Amino acid sequence: MSIKLEHLNYVYSAGTAYEKQALKDVCLEIPHGEFVGIIGHTGSGKSTLIQHLNGLVKATSGALYYDGKNIYEPGYNMRELRNQVGLVFQYPEHQLFEVDVMSDVCFGPKNQGLNPDQCMECALEALKLVGLKEKYYNSSPFELSGGQKRRVAIAGVLAMHPKVLVLDEPTAGLDPKGRDDILDQIAYLHTQRDMTVILVSHSMEDIARYADRIIVMNKGEVMYNDCPRKVFEHYRELEQVGLAAPQVTYIMHDLKEQGFAVEPNVTTVEEA
Ligand code: ADP
Repeated sequence: MSIKLEHLNYVYSAGTAYEKQALKDVCLEIPHGEFVGIIGHTGSGKSTLIQHLNGLVKATSGALYYDGKNIYEPGYNMRELRNQVGLVFQYPEHQLFEVDVMSDVCFGPKNQGLNPDQCMECALEALKLVGLKEKYYNSSPFELSGGQKRRVAIAGVLAMHPKVLVLDEPTAGLDPKGRDDILDQIAYLHTQRDMTVILVSHSMEDIARYADRIIVMNKGEVMYNDCPRKVFEHYRELEQVGLAAPQVTYIMHDLKEQGFAVEPNVTTVEEA
């Protein structure tokens, strides 16, 4: 399920005093199965961009092709698109509202029209994938830690079997251990499911560890769109826009490309 954006522009509050062009002539192609990192400062257009990917926001101009079909063509099945492109918003735990974890994760499959047994099956698989211990399945989401809540929220999207998983700053507000756990878990998910992963972050360190490709956004435009090694070659320009990462990040990535074992150890991902 490839995604292609052609000369996409998006303007907030067009024609008013608050008019703001958030995306400028964005052209991108994301093949199925890639792990893509989108990085940029606050306000660079990352959130606006990803909200286009499942049709939540409609471009002011330009085209977006999903699996070869322009989603802006009349009659396009937006509902199906939303089933296929799962979006995990920033602080997704704010959207947990059911009485227990299991009901929360079943919510999406239920909306897709699955029967209770099928919903349960999808939810169980998703909760296992995100590494939440079984003893929490009947807990209220509000009794869980920040990292656990986030896992439940991600499971809620995974339970709908998306072909593309988009995560907006999934580590925001977590402590360093929680951050590493969630990122390792996302990398693990990518290996377990035939799924494109699009991870948004403002941290080059986070992105560089996992992404096959990095898209650097700056003031609404795509500044770079390449494999990490090629993007890192522009470290001076990245530094100038405040997106430098410690040298060790680049070295780690080079080692990985040369075949050294610097992959996350998924056995540490399981919650203690
Ligand atoms: P990022 O996710 O990289 O922080 P955003 O996509 O949220 O960037 O924002 C891009 C630009 O659009 C920013 O200048 C922001 O102020 C502006 N913007 C975002 N949301 C709105 C909105 N609802 N109304 C007006 N301007 C907005």
